[in-house]
Amino acid sequence: MARIGFIGLGNMGGGMAANLAKAGHDVHAFDLSADALDKAKTAGCLPVDSAAAAAQGADAVVTMLPAGRHVAQVYEEAVFPAAAPGTLLLDCSTIDVTTAKKVAEAAVAKGLAAVDAPVSGGIAAAAGGTLTFMVGGSAEAFARAEPILARMGKAVIHAGPSGAGQAAKICNNMLLGATMVATCEAFLLAQKLGLDPQTFYDISSVSSGQSWSMTSYCPLPGVGPETPADRDYQGGFAAGLMLKDLKLAVQAAADADASVPMGAEAMALYQAFANGGDGGLDFSGIIRMLGGMR
Ligand code: NAD
Repeated sequence: MARIGFIGLGNMGGGMAANLAKAGHDVHAFDLSADALDKAKTAGCLPVDSAAAAAQGADAVVTMLPAGRHVAQVYEEAVFPAAAPGTLLLDCSTIDVTTAKKVAEAAVAKGLAAVDAPVSGGIAAAAGGTLTFMVGGSAEAFARAEPILARMGKAVIHAGPSGAGQAAKICNNMLLGATMVATCEAFLLAQKLGLDPQTFYDISSVSSGQSWSMTSYCPLPGVGPETPADRDYQGGFAAGLMLKDLKLAVQAAADADASVPMGAEAMALYQAFANGGDGGLDFSGIIRMLGGMR
C-alpha cells in the first residue's frame, strides 16, 4: 500500500481520504479546517500540520480543493517544493482546463507526474466510494493513478492528455445543466396545458424527450424515483456548484472559440437562481424559479 498525501478534506475530500485509509493506504491528510482534520483522524488518516508535510515522503498526493487558484497555490507553495522526484499528483478538484494544463506542465517540468481527475457524483458517492473519475494525463501517469482512484470510485476513465478530464467534466455538467432547465420547462408547460405530471413523465420517459434529468433526477416531487425534489430540494448537487461548473464551461468555450448558447443560457438562469438566495438548494430546485414560485 502507498503513502498518500491528501489535501482538502471538505464535503468530498473527507469521504475520499477515508476510503483510501480504509483500503489500507497510509494517508497523511491536511486541511485548513481543524474540524476536517479531526474527522480525518477518526476515519483512520494521519492529520499533518501543512500541505507540504502531506506531500513530503508521499508516493502520491491527492488534492480536492474548491477552485483552480487554490490548486495552483497549493502546488506552487507546498507540493512542488516538498514532493520527491517521481511523486504522482492527482488533482480531483473541478477546475478550469487552462489551470489544469498549466499545473500539470509545471509538475512534469519539476520531475513529478500529474493527472487531472475530476469526479462525477456527489457527497454520498464520495463517502460510499462510488465516484466516477475522468482522468487527463499521459498513459504512464494514468496507469499509476488508476489503482488509487479505484479505491474511491466505481469507474475510472482515461479521457486523454492533460486537461482532458476537466474538459469531460465541464462538458458533461453543461449538458446536465441545460437538460435540467429544459426538463423543468417541459414539466411546467405540460401542467399549464392540462397534462397530469405523472402522465407526462410516463410518456416522455419512454419517448425521445427522455434524459437523465427526467428519469433519474426528476425535478418534480412525487414523480419518478425519489430525488431531492421529494426532500424540498435539500441535499443533492447544490445549484451554486452547478453555476460554478457552467461558468467554467462557458469560459472554456470562449477560450476555444466554441459556441455554447444553451450552456450560456443555463448559466444565466442558475446565476439568477443563486442571486435569489437559492444557491444552496439542489440544482433541480430551479423549477421553482422557472415556475414563478420564488
Ligand atoms: P468544500 O468546500 O466542502 O471542501 C474544500 C476543502 O478545501 C475545505 O475543507 C477547505 O478548508 C479546504 N481548503 C481550501 N483551501 C485549502 C488550502 N490552501 N489547503 C488545504 N485545504 C484547503 O468543497 P467540496 O464540496 O468538497 O468540493 C471540492 C471540489 O470537488 C470542488 O472543486 C467541487 O467543485 C468538486 N465537486 C464537488 C461536488 C459536490 O457535490 N460537493 C461534486 C463533484 C465535484
